[in-house]
Amino acid sequence: MIAPLIDGFGRVHDNLRISVTDRCNIRCFYCMPEEGVQFMDRAEILTFEEIERFVRAAVPLGISKLRLTGGEPLLRRDLPRLIEKLAAIPGIRDIALTTNAVLLEKHAAALYGAGLRRLNIHLDTLDRARFERITRRDDLPRVLAGIDKAVEVGFRNIKLNVVAVKGLVEPDIVPVAKYCRERGFEPRYIEFMPLDAQSLWDRTSVLTADEIISQLSREIAPLRAVPDADPRAPATEYEYTDGGGRVGLIASVSKPFCLNCNRIRLTSEGKLRYCLFAIDETDVRPLLRSQASDEAIAAVIRSNIAAKWIGHEINSPQFVPPPRPMYSIGG
Ligand code: SF4
Repeated sequence: MIAPLIDGFGRVHDNLRISVTDRCNIRCFYCMPEEGVQFMDRAEILTFEEIERFVRAAVPLGISKLRLTGGEPLLRRDLPRLIEKLAAIPGIRDIALTTNAVLLEKHAAALYGAGLRRLNIHLDTLDRARFERITRRDDLPRVLAGIDKAVEVGFRNIKLNVVAVKGLVEPDIVPVAKYCRERGFEPRYIEFMPLDAQSLWDRTSVLTADEIISQLSREIAPLRAVPDADPRAPATEYEYTDGGGRVGLIASVSKPFCLNCNRIRLTSEGKLRYCLFAIDETDVRPLLRSQASDEAIAAVIRSNIAAKWIGHEINSPQFVPPPRPMYSIGG
């Protein structure tokens, strides 16, 4: 029996986030600049076969959950073929995708057909003008059409990821929550993190989980914490006392959850990152493009995790933002 992937703090890692591209078709101001973004060349990006190879080497170490991210993963041509490959790997029991849904109407059926069942959709607002202000694109109608199509083809329990920037999304908190209650979706409010390409982040722009809970409890229905929720999941789960569904809060800044972290990340060009905020990373692409054995790849994964720090230092004076922005790391 191969030993599980445990770091120096006793955390077991079974969740791999794979960025399949750094490209995106919108320009959220808290993620990337409007102009002048340098994306990687095609040749630098891991092929589907290389991603599959990495996952096959990681499964014996206990990796069983995958999340596909970007940039915007639906920009990666033929993504359903990758999902089929990954879903066929023995030991992989869960595959999820995070998308901005601008292209979802076109791809929903093929994604569902390939075996994908879990969707997180990044949508901060239902207000068209504010959507355009945040993303610099007038694509809200396409996003909403994509969501409807996803439901039509069979996706359930869809989660909406809302990046809660203070002074911007307060008017959206309740409308998004109501939209989710009406459709059986779950909103996930994510505290704004210092991962943007233009260093716009400061503590005063963080709308905290507690502020969001009190707003929802005041304006919709009281919320209570879900007792048996998975402690290692990034979101703290709440449910409405009137039975109107659940709400997830990802309180990375106000209530860091690093002590339960079970995640490791692979960037689109093959860098292994033990943390979203990691300063160091390990290049596995040369291994994936050589005759290296699965054991050699597994050894690199294990040493990356062995070096994992206790957690981000956003709340300490020593905090140093990671050398690459969110769109080139993947959510
Ligand atoms: S900040 Fe890093 S260590 Fe903390 S939960 Fe996120 S990925 Fe894990």
